[in-house]
Amino acid sequence: MLLVTFGASAQRRGARTKVIAHRGYWQAEGSAQNSIRSLIKADSIRCWGSEFDVWMSKDGTLYVNHDEDINGVVIQKSKSRDIAKQKLSNGEFIPTLEQLLQTAVNLPKLQLVCELKPHDNKKQEAKAVKKIIKMVEKYGLQDRMTYITFSLPGMKELIKRAPQGTEVYYLNGELTPQELKDMGAAGMDYHFDVFLSNKNWTSQCRQLGLKSNAWTVNVTLNSGLVDHILDMDLDFITTNTPEEMKHLIHERGITTYP
Ligand code: MG
Repeated sequence: MLLVTFGASAQRRGARTKVIAHRGYWQAEGSAQNSIRSLIKADSIRCWGSEFDVWMSKDGTLYVNHDEDINGVVIQKSKSRDIAKQKLSNGEFIPTLEQLLQTAVNLPKLQLVCELKPHDNKKQEAKAVKKIIKMVEKYGLQDRMTYITFSLPGMKELIKRAPQGTEVYYLNGELTPQELKDMGAAGMDYHFDVFLSNKNWTSQCRQLGLKSNAWTVNVTLNSGLVDHILDMDLDFITTNTPEEMKHLIHERGITTYP
């Protein structure tokens, strides 16, 4: 039985809800969160996109890591010589954004979802935005890059600096669809609880020409809850279980309106 409630013709017209691997496909063999391997593995299972987190070191190098620190070295407050030698759990050295983008160039079907982490120093954060955008342009990846952030100043900076048409999404959950539209965001990338508490936001987004993305929706959640989330007409699902989520969406024929 299809979970979607709109008619068959709408389903035929619609695009399937897209799956984004959260911090890459890190549960795959030999992988680790935000590793180069996790990007390659996300591509290998044909995820629509792969998400990763970016910090800038004190001396201006962009690193890919979720936490503020790696092995106790706080990236935004440290120099590159101390960060570069740190290793991930799969034995890789912490990747720079440049290394990740160099890999992405050879994975042309994979969309890239870059999370700008909120830096304590907003000048440093603004500088990180400029550097990220410049580097993405250097590798010709503008058309495959989407930005997300919890930082409101960071979002405004990304909208201002990124090439026209670049999609920038907000993560923090407190802004309404109309507020995001007014700021020039592409949509909301919120925790699934926010969508459960604001049941008309996905349809409001669609009416405003915005998109919606929920995190982190894992197949290991209560299955009734997963069903309910998948029934919300989201454009994207961000998940730690991308392979299983793709199968689930495929099996249930879940689509969104075009
Ligand atoms: Mg992230």
